[in-house]
Amino acid sequence: MSTSSTENTKVKRDKTAADGEAAAATKVGAGGDKSSGRTFDFDYAPSIESTEIVKIQPQNKLFIDGKFVTPKSAKYFATMNPATGEKLAEIADANGADVDLAMSAASRAYTKTWSKLSGRERGRYLFRIARIIQERARELAVLETLDNGKPIRESRDVDVPLVAAHFFYHAGWADKLEYAAPGRTVSSLGVVGQVIPWNFPLLMAAWKIAPALACGNTVVLKPAETTSLSALLLAEIFQEAGLPDGVVNIVTGAGATGAAVVNHSEVKKVAFTGSTEVGKIIMRSLAGTNKRLTLELGGKSAHIIFEDAALDQAVEGVINGIYFNQGHVCCAGSRLLVEESIANVFVEKLKARMQKLRVGNPLDKNTDIGAINSEGELKKIRSLVATGQAEGGEFFEPTDIRLPEKGYYHRPCFFNNVAAAFTLSRTEVFGPVLTISTFRTAQEAIAKANDTQYGLAAGIWSEKGSKVYKVAQGLKAGVIWANTYNKFDPTSPFGGYNESGFGREGGRHGLLSYLEVK
Ligand code: NAD
Repeated sequence: MSTSSTENTKVKRDKTAADGEAAAATKVGAGGDKSSGRTFDFDYAPSIESTEIVKIQPQNKLFIDGKFVTPKSAKYFATMNPATGEKLAEIADANGADVDLAMSAASRAYTKTWSKLSGRERGRYLFRIARIIQERARELAVLETLDNGKPIRESRDVDVPLVAAHFFYHAGWADKLEYAAPGRTVSSLGVVGQVIPWNFPLLMAAWKIAPALACGNTVVLKPAETTSLSALLLAEIFQEAGLPDGVVNIVTGAGATGAAVVNHSEVKKVAFTGSTEVGKIIMRSLAGTNKRLTLELGGKSAHIIFEDAALDQAVEGVINGIYFNQGHVCCAGSRLLVEESIANVFVEKLKARMQKLRVGNPLDKNTDIGAINSEGELKKIRSLVATGQAEGGEFFEPTDIRLPEKGYYHRPCFFNNVAAAFTLSRTEVFGPVLTISTFRTAQEAIAKANDTQYGLAAGIWSEKGSKVYKVAQGLKAGVIWANTYNKFDPTSPFGGYNESGFGREGGRHGLLSYLEVK
């Protein structure tokens, strides 16, 4: 950026100083950044990813029996770009008749084609899908960012590579399933009904579809209503890969469509990822049926920082765990437990790092925190933050971060010195909101970390391996990271304790829920 444009930016910002926040921002440094409205002691030029590679249909159909078909319901709803609040496209709202068609197609494909193929042949399709995902990676990443609001850096460097990795990994398993349960005989189940949330739309689709197909099942998948577009692009990839008709069917819609999928008589297994509330509804509705069920639900995961941890590294891990991806991560490290002796130092470091976070256009490659996925989610986050403020937590947010005027954005923030009974210590916010409390002993840290209805993940930060192992053994969480956070790998099983659900996805354990083991 030239000196004159820097000056211009600064002058503009000074004009808006009336809101107080901008006045604070101008103190930070001489530089400026139009895309996020922040000032720094140096400049980032905006670096906006082009959207030209993506072609979004104005009206999107259902994917049934290998074709895109008009919904019997004849109804559509809008999907928005959360970065601007503008409509991106219309999505088909599948009703019971549409779900019936998808189920019949999946059932036919299972009996006539997919269950007759050898594991090696199924694996070849999965390898082909994985390779096309890699070839079309940029298109998938841009579409995911447009529909979900997550930073392009995240969709490009995390989501899409992991999606390809899941298909590659399960392609490898398809002809080796006897090793998933040594000494036993394994076979497929039939039609699988899968319902997924909006926070990792493509990745959740891959977590569900890849193991189901590798194990010889056919699929009816329902994506979340606010983020259906990338699943429909995945359907195009299935067509390109020549996947036999009906092996994967994608029905879009809201909760009623999801309920029609999970309750359908054709379904042998239900795999659900989403909120604990809906997970409980599904569990109740499946009780007494012989359908298999796995639930990946909410979380309130703890990050434990010991005084001997590498503090700057731990700060980065905490930031990554709760603020990147706007806190829209089921296993977000949303409760920070810091050893009392370093609490003040750590919190000051955290504040300093938060001041540097860049909130803004998700398509900008410099953006750390993108848009909240929907207006409804933003309202929910604001209301929970207001509850926290009313309850008296010590609230901090970097007020010099100015949010874009259009779209759905929220500043990263935390509540310090919170009690266990504090609403936000117990409730999943699913936004960039952290609670902080202290501990004095490892036993106290374990007790506090386990003091939750959930049990999805935890992070431990210490230089001492023995301490990490000891604490990990006491934690009731499905995934525990040591000196890192939010790292995923298809070979590693993922899942929760308590109200975070049951069953595992990924790795050998994840395969078992898609197989009949005799
Ligand atoms: P949600 O439960 O509101 O919706 C999830 C999906 O269920 C959507 O596709 C929705 O349309 C569908 N649905 C809604 N009502 C239904 C019903 N009665 N029957 C069947 N389907 C129904 O959750 P969300 O807001 O989309 O996602 C956020 C939640 O997902 C958070 O709680 C988060 O922790 C959780 N999540 C968990 C994991 C995990 O692996 N444990 C991963 C990602 C997200």
